[in-house]
Amino acid sequence: KCGVVAVIGRPNVGKSTLMNALVGEHLSITSSKPQTTRHRVLGVMTEEVSALPTQFIFVDTPGFQTKHSSALNKTMNRAVLTALGDVNVILWVIEQDKLTDADLKVLALCPKGVPVIAVINKLDQLDNKNLVLPFIEKVSGQANFAAIVPVSAQSKKNLDGLKQAVAEHL
Ligand code: GDP
Ligand code: MG
Repeated sequence: KCGVVAVIGRPNVGKSTLMNALVGEHLSITSSKPQTTRHRVLGVMTEEVSALPTQFIFVDTPGFQTKHSSALNKTMNRAVLTALGDVNVILWVIEQDKLTDADLKVLALCPKGVPVIAVINKLDQLDNKNLVLPFIEKVSGQANFAAIVPVSAQSKKNLDGLKQAVAEHL
């Protein structure tokens, strides 16, 4: 299995940390997969997921990594929409127990028809584990997600669960 995975989310939710944790030592420098110029490749993960050889190509979407996402004009939004329409899976990254306007603005840019996985990061910061389920419930009301996966990028918690969820939607 092979697919292109976009990682999106407001600044500081842990996108880079998550990418590093997922790609880690599995980073491969060369890939036979043709790349579109619409995306910046952040890393490539090649390993077995659920006993199947699997490759994820993680990409950034131009115009997306801005501190001023609220000021994105219509043209830029359209460009992001076009670029995101080109990927197999979108990882929409948020922080545990936080659902902000900025998060929802990013989510709103996801085109219809591409599976979006909500990644709830920084699970290690949650003292009361009883809060995970109600928060997942709250998140699930925001869109028709392909999956909602709590992780800790920093503590490398549930990364296998996330890889499986991505692989299921390639
Ligand atoms: P980005 O702006 O979305 O790329 O976020 P970064 O990956 O740069 O992370 C922002 C901050 O959150 C950094 O200080 C990270 O160390 C921290 N961080 C990222 N993932 C986790 C996590 O799972 N748990 C905790 N406690 N901190 C995290
Ligand atoms: Mg970053």
